[in-house]
Amino acid sequence: MTNDQGAIANLQAELSKLPGIGPKSAERISHYLLGGDRKAAAELANALRVVVEKVRPCPECFNWTEGDLCPICRDHRRDAGSICVVETPRDIALFERTGSYRGVYHVLGGRLAPLDGFGPDRLTFAALAQRVRRGGVKEIILATSPTMEGDGTALYASNLLAGSGVAITKLARGLPSGSSLELANPQMLADAMDGRRTL
Ligand SMILES: [Zn+2]
Repeated sequence: MTNDQGAIANLQAELSKLPGIGPKSAERISHYLLGGDRKAAAELANALRVVVEKVRPCPECFNWTEGDLCPICRDHRRDAGSICVVETPRDIALFERTGSYRGVYHVLGGRLAPLDGFGPDRLTFAALAQRVRRGGVKEIILATSPTMEGDGTALYASNLLAGSGVAITKLARGLPSGSSLELANPQMLADAMDGRRTL
């Protein structure tokens, strides 16, 4: 970086922590923000401040929400008897884009990675079991990523919920094995949901 003055270097350091943004992009964005309309930069800063202050995990499903329950949990037209278990709120957005799933969700907050010391207590399994115990749930759809860790996470959830009387299903394969569901297009995700099988 050519400019090592405090504020600009700090902005570039923060920008380069974002996914997909390396030092060169961080430099380009910071100069764009400085050189352009200062009002646009202020609006970006304000948008960041507002999400940091207002957006929280939904107390029911751990999706992001600004209110109490998230818009999906609040929506009485959704089938609360079907819970699709995903790793992150981003995965919810992917399934919502398919437009074909009418149930609700549960965000685990990641996936099990025992080798990295990321165990079940770091995820929202307890809250999921609680939702099932409360009753009214007919099906749990495990929609973790098609990776070894994602599969291990799904297996842990199915063992946890075994004996609860709830049908436990898993997305059909055919999804690309890779790092995340975001590699699948909406139709592939819709097909994986339609072709889900009982564990
Ligand atoms: Zn919710």
